[in-house]
Amino acid sequence: MSEPSTEMRLCRQCLVPKPIDEFRLRRRGGTERMRQCSSCHSQTEKLRRASRRSKLERDAAAKFALDLKNAKNHKQVVLLCNAVIKRFGGMGAFASAWLKQAETACGEKPGSKKACDFFQAGLRLMEYCEAQRPNMGQMSDEELRTRAMYEIQRFIEQQPEVAIAAANRLGWTVIPPATASL
Ligand SMILES: [Zn+2]
Repeated sequence: MSEPSTEMRLCRQCLVPKPIDEFRLRRRGGTERMRQCSSCHSQTEKLRRASRRSKLERDAAAKFALDLKNAKNHKQVVLLCNAVIKRFGGMGAFASAWLKQAETACGEKPGSKKACDFFQAGLRLMEYCEAQRPNMGQMSDEELRTRAMYEIQRFIEQQPEVAIAAANRLGWTVIPPATASL
């Protein structure tokens, strides 16, 4: 084993003189060392990775906007959405990344193609959601009855006073549930 070196070097980034062994070797087994100290090097690498991640996110969001805008049918819309949600690690993560990227694109260049892609992709999603609403005209009587019951129940839960007024008109006595809390 050799004696620890007392040689010093000035880090070209933080401009602090440090012992030579605080500068990484350029190559494993080599002797040439970096001009940047270890801690500056780690910091730079960390920033580089973060900027790469945000670039990947930006690219993925822009590609999704473009693909969604051009989606041929609803099935493709669903496939694209599932893939992108998985890519971002969940619905919440995707939604916030998407919003951030859309806002950035619109903020940077409001009329740019990229900003329009985001806008058109949003419209495409709305169009899909609209198409998913049940088409009453194609439902059987039984389906309509079930659906109507469900909607009425929901309506009564939200506006019980309407149900009470209706019952009174029919001459019924309404008994509130025993468990109802005030
Ligand atoms: Zn340094």
